[in-house]
Amino acid sequence: MARIGFVGLGNMGAPMARNLVKAGHQVAVFDLSPAAIAAVPGAEAAESGAAAATGADIVFTMLPAGAHVREAWLGGMAAASRPDAVLVDCSTIDVATARAVAAACGRAFLDAPVSGGVMGAEAGTLTFMVGGPAAAFASVEPVLRQMGRAAIHCGEVGAGQAAKACNNMMLAATMIVTAEAFVLAERLGLSHQALFDVASQSSGQSWSLTTYCPVPGPVPGSPANRDYVPGFAADLMLKDLGLAVGAAQAAGVRLEVGEKALDLYRRFVEEGGGGKDFSGIINKMLRDLAHP
Ligand code: NAD
Repeated sequence: MARIGFVGLGNMGAPMARNLVKAGHQVAVFDLSPAAIAAVPGAEAAESGAAAATGADIVFTMLPAGAHVREAWLGGMAAASRPDAVLVDCSTIDVATARAVAAACGRAFLDAPVSGGVMGAEAGTLTFMVGGPAAAFASVEPVLRQMGRAAIHCGEVGAGQAAKACNNMMLAATMIVTAEAFVLAERLGLSHQALFDVASQSSGQSWSLTTYCPVPGPVPGSPANRDYVPGFAADLMLKDLGLAVGAAQAAGVRLEVGEKALDLYRRFVEEGGGGKDFSGIINKMLRDLAHP
């Protein structure tokens, strides 16, 4: 069993830390919110991020954005950690900040964003996409597997964030075009079920269709059946698309579809859809665009 520090106990971090406690590790936790710390029974409540990092074999952060990650690690956590500790940031942040923080920490540092959402964090079925030194990845992989069902080493530091940005851009674009196809089907007199039955067994098949189908009916568990309660909220998708487009701009890559997806999700969020599941973009937005 390992000594683990865990900082950032929000919707994702708290259930992840609880799974580490359940696995029998000695876990020291910290969050700016005392209520969040109380949500991880069985862990030692540390007085600061630096205190949580002190003496740990592995130190995790699960924070909102790049600025928080930079402040936490470079504001004392990295310096307080053991020189041989492995530092793991699971937040979704921009590639450039992940690389800069890793370089400044002076320790083995992994960027390890996740997919699977709050339900995956609770169930311990997250997927970790990890960038950083192979030896550090190998040493923490068993612990990642106690919070998730897959951990994929993607390359050097920043590769985990790059994988997350690329994956979620693909997800956004397939959701938009799947939703557009259902709107077009409505106008052409084709039933939702018929389109689903054909496309789910044809080349239009995707996760957006067969798991998160944006119309109610064909996939009973999809958010469309519960008025688009997330699931994966549109404002988180907007954040991830912003990271993908930002990374592309920094790399000099033009994203025709990715930039369009960002524009559509920005408008959906501006119109009040941020708290809805991202598949809810069909509900008003795309139907309105189809009926000008
Ligand atoms: P959240 O806002 O619920 O939690 C963030 C926590 O960090 C809060 O409890 C906050 O008090 C704490 N915090 C902020 N700054 C801190 C600091 N300096 N020291 C200690 N604690 C600090 O966010 P979340 O939903 O748990 O998401 C965390 C990360 O995971 C984000 O980067 C998000 O994009 C990513 N993510 C979220 C989901 C999801 O479905 N919620 C899915 C995949 C990835």
